[in-house]
Amino acid sequence: MFEKVLIANRGEIALRIQRACRELGVKTVAVHSEADREAKYVKLADESVCIGPAPSGQSYLHIPAVISAAEVTDAEAIHPGYGFLSENADFAERVENSGFVFIGPRPETIRLMGDKVSAKDAMKKTGVPCVPGSDGALPDDPDEILKIAKKIGYPVIIKAAGGGGGRGMRVVHTEAALLTSVEMTSAEAQAAFGNPMVYMEKFLEQPRHIEIQVLADEHGNAVYLGERDCSMQRRHQKVLEEAPAPGVDRKRIATVGERCAEACRAIGYRGAGTFEFLYENGEFYFIEMNTRVQVEHPVTEQVTGIDIVQAQLRIASGEKMPFKQKDIHLRGHSIECRINAEDPHNFVPSPGRITGFHMPGGPGVRVDTHAYQNYMVPPNYDSMIGKLITYGDTREQAIARMRIALSEMVVEGIKTNIPLHIELMNDAAFHAGGTSIHYLENKLGIVSK
Ligand code: ADP
Repeated sequence: MFEKVLIANRGEIALRIQRACRELGVKTVAVHSEADREAKYVKLADESVCIGPAPSGQSYLHIPAVISAAEVTDAEAIHPGYGFLSENADFAERVENSGFVFIGPRPETIRLMGDKVSAKDAMKKTGVPCVPGSDGALPDDPDEILKIAKKIGYPVIIKAAGGGGGRGMRVVHTEAALLTSVEMTSAEAQAAFGNPMVYMEKFLEQPRHIEIQVLADEHGNAVYLGERDCSMQRRHQKVLEEAPAPGVDRKRIATVGERCAEACRAIGYRGAGTFEFLYENGEFYFIEMNTRVQVEHPVTEQVTGIDIVQAQLRIASGEKMPFKQKDIHLRGHSIECRINAEDPHNFVPSPGRITGFHMPGGPGVRVDTHAYQNYMVPPNYDSMIGKLITYGDTREQAIARMRIALSEMVVEGIKTNIPLHIELMNDAAFHAGGTSIHYLENKLGIVSK
């Protein structure tokens, strides 16, 4: 195991990684911007280095600053967390070329999965089910494009190969609108991502978002840790996640999960990763892979008993995974509510000082947060200030515990989305389970694009 790990992130995930390191006896280096200087988790780390001013472009995204922090502190490995540099292949490469271990997949894997066209192609080859669509990028020939759409059947969605964060996509309902939509998406993709390449997929009307968590080591072992249902979304941002996915046939999960594990072996995947799928009418359709730990990883930890962040550290240090697929069993049900510093009605971020803070507890309650009484939520970053996670023997028990935990939770001085989560815990469709990715926006009266 490593002696010292640098955590190239902030907020709750920086604390989560720090806890995993400490449990394994690994020393930690916290890097932070000027805005995060006073954060308690920074003080809890064995060492800390200020890497720049508040704007993330000059701190958390500034590769030379992160690498020099690792150099001056003699860290052996760098954990990128999620967001920021976590899926930046150039960063992973720079880390390795500077003699540090990148806690994640190889740079070439990040690159392969970062381009949606090459990712989908690789997945198709390894038998992971994909959304029917164009074979790779769309050709220039308009007649060919029209033919491809006709074959897939309308509505179709045009997506940028370099897209991300829910941007660079356009739904097309009629043949008449197709060619201009392709042109516009391509021009926008060039401007936003520096890559004009676009591809086409069948547009699924009422899918759920179900994803498969995987772990793979450097010795050819790969397992899947079941699934998460992340269909409760607003503007493509997940609001609430749960494991397992209600009402999905376990045999279907096992089949798709095994395909994901097989794909990991085929591409030589290393570390933790997530295969994201849209799920409609009993079928899974791969949309993308996240080559990092995810915000919602705790629900999987709760139902499998496996510490995913510790597994990342062990795999990166070259250890063999101590479990095989047959050792992984799902037990009970877990739900995660993302707690954001934002107005619960109009979702405008609400940074500022937390004047009152009380966290819930009791059986089956887990709180992952870096916030505390008097903590100043900086305006510079994502508005998520923590995650409330409950576990129960059944989904009903996990919901009941979540309802109680939310009612105990106090965050004063700033606005949070706790009222929205309370409403969801009392929502009949959520109770029934299996809502589509459009459910929350429809409930909120937001017209999706
Ligand atoms: P990004 O990397 O930008 O998040 P994704 O490929 O993961 O892009 O897609 C983001 C979201 O767009 C999905 O969660 C889903 O809501 C919608 N989407 C993408 N592809 C399709 C499709 N073929 N049919 C319906 N919705 C889609």
